[in-house]
Amino acid sequence: MADLWRRYLEQQIELGGAEVVLGRTVSRADRRTAFPVTDGSPPLTDGSPVPRDATDEPVEPTTRQPVRPSAAWKKGAPPIPGPGLVIETPSHVLGDELVALRSLDEIAERVRTTYCCALCPTRINGVPGHGNPDARLVLIGEGPGANEDAQGKPFVGQAGNLLNGILDAIEVPRDSVYITNIVKCRPPQNRKPLPDEIAACIPYLHRELEIIRPKVILALGSTAAEALLGVRKSLGELRNKVHTYNGIPLVVTYHPAALLRNPNWKKPTWDDVRIVRQLLDR
Ligand code: URA
Repeated sequence: MADLWRRYLEQQIELGGAEVVLGRTVSRADRRTAFPVTDGSPPLTDGSPVPRDATDEPVEPTTRQPVRPSAAWKKGAPPIPGPGLVIETPSHVLGDELVALRSLDEIAERVRTTYCCALCPTRINGVPGHGNPDARLVLIGEGPGANEDAQGKPFVGQAGNLLNGILDAIEVPRDSVYITNIVKCRPPQNRKPLPDEIAACIPYLHRELEIIRPKVILALGSTAAEALLGVRKSLGELRNKVHTYNGIPLVVTYHPAALLRNPNWKKPTWDDVRIVRQLLDR
């Protein structure tokens, strides 16, 4: 049985997918996307994962854990790429008011209770960063969507489920990381945040990173990458390099929502996150 499982897992990884340990609710839609999610069952004879639910309703988590080879993500992982941009954020960007915020909780309270740009008045909730204050990995998205706006937490919708799967695949527990966004309020109709909205909100992010000082930063999508690195470049130009943000290695990959739209990007994303995993181990 273990051999069968190992073969299946290797097949998935060669395809650019990855096996995921269930410990939470996932929908069938997620399972159809970049990082296939199964309940750990051995494959059917044609290699397909065994379907567990008949509807698109969320499935309850199972406690059964798959037997999987340790560090399966290592197989075929790309080498750590060469250096990219080196960015030092000038301290004046923060301003005295933000430097006075001494903890992530204080930043979160400020985000929830004040307005800093034109996005704030239309929000349901400000969405501060969330996660482990001692995180070694910080993930940065673009801005809250409808689910995040409703719940006041980042990456809790479909893109968040996919992100959970990606973290599982590189064996990084979600509760060990910190997840945040470039802008903390939902842009109307999920449009990209405008430059002045980014400029107004990004000091919070710089302060979050200054307090956490993670070992690695992962920028999800071009909005996050360009805003953090202060450049206008395509994702293609920014991927596959290890940039340096205030001395911290920063890797750029596709946004999970982009993977939901275009599965061709799952393989490069899988490579990027395995680079991140290696940087964490270094
Ligand atoms: N997309 C983002 O960029 N951030 C979220 O929090 C959710 C979706």
